[in-house]
Amino acid sequence: MGAIKRILVTGGAGFLGSHLCERLVAEGHDVICLDNFFTSQKTNVGHLLTRPNFELIRHDITLPIWLEVDEIYNLACPAAPGHYQYNPIKTMKTSVLGAIHVLGMTKRCRAKVLQASTSEVYGDPQVHPQPESYRGSVNPIGPRACYDEGKRAAETLFMDYHRANSVNVRIVRIFNTYGPRMHPYDGRVISNFICQALKGQDITIFGDGRQTRSFCYRDDLVEGLIRMMNAPDDFCGPVNLGNPEEFTIRELADIVIELTASGSRIVARPLPADDPTRRQPDTTLAQQRLGWRPTVSLRQGLVKTIDWFRSIDMSEYRPPTPNY
Ligand code: NAD
Ligand code: UDP
Repeated sequence: MGAIKRILVTGGAGFLGSHLCERLVAEGHDVICLDNFFTSQKTNVGHLLTRPNFELIRHDITLPIWLEVDEIYNLACPAAPGHYQYNPIKTMKTSVLGAIHVLGMTKRCRAKVLQASTSEVYGDPQVHPQPESYRGSVNPIGPRACYDEGKRAAETLFMDYHRANSVNVRIVRIFNTYGPRMHPYDGRVISNFICQALKGQDITIFGDGRQTRSFCYRDDLVEGLIRMMNAPDDFCGPVNLGNPEEFTIRELADIVIELTASGSRIVARPLPADDPTRRQPDTTLAQQRLGWRPTVSLRQGLVKTIDWFRSIDMSEYRPPTPNY
């Protein structure tokens, strides 16, 4: 094993953050998980609380914080459309002020920082699949803008701290990722369809279901995050991380019904504004620079995710904090 590092994971109690913390704790690092629990709960990291190399801090990243660390994974930000639109101004503050605070800390500590950016920086893409060189097609005044533009502004801050202050930064653009510990009320398509199928409720397809997404299993994604953090210092990214297998939402609904053996019906609901029509990562750069490619197929990942959704106690989960 390499040297033990002090690693901060903002948003560390969330879906991806909790798995990342788990991996880093298992590798022996000294891990600080920072979270305000807006879209998560302590149970996600409950099993880590007794570990001597794990520490949990309740803090909101829109406020400054002073810590001594070697590496930061900046994941704090609501990620599901229903969550980030709940308080859009706060979402923008989390992305922008959060970036400023972690970049300031990275600069002071001479540390290294990775930004969890998103495929949403490409908006409703006019280029398909999306390479990192594509600059995107984002509506700056629409309902998704608080998230898309917040993440774009964060990327700008990361690159400006890098150019102006030589801060050691890395940017990954994450495409739709799913797996155990997704919030059952987050409204994302995979959690929604699985919960609906398991309860025998109608499966809600927004629009005609011909829009596409490419779904990455969480273990593949976490591996990509760690590889990017450990990549040579001359590689800041941005780099796409996602599974290039593309599915229509209708195909996804059919697969979920099949794997859950559910009797649910499929029903149509209105398509939300600015919903991207197609999304598929070009992962050439990740393959070349990180030697990374996804290994888990959608069916394999869905089986594990469905098993987890069957096992949870829904009373432990709640919708976002009302006073957020
Ligand atoms: P998540 O909502 O489960 O995790 C986000 C975490 O950040 C939660 O624990 C939440 O409580 C915390 N948080 C939110 N605002 C905060 C604040 N102001 N201060 C401190 N903590 C705060 O979502 P996730 O899917 O695990 O996403 C993690 C990161 O990855 C996010 O930055 C998201 O934008 C990015 N991402 C995820 C996906 C995906 O498909 N899962 C895709 C693209 C980008
Ligand atoms: N979607 C759907 N039914 C649902 C939830 C989502 O048809 O119950 C669609 C949504 O309109 C979008 C896709 O599934 O086209 C992915 O939605 P999600 O919220 O998971 O993530 P996005 O990629 O849009 O951020």
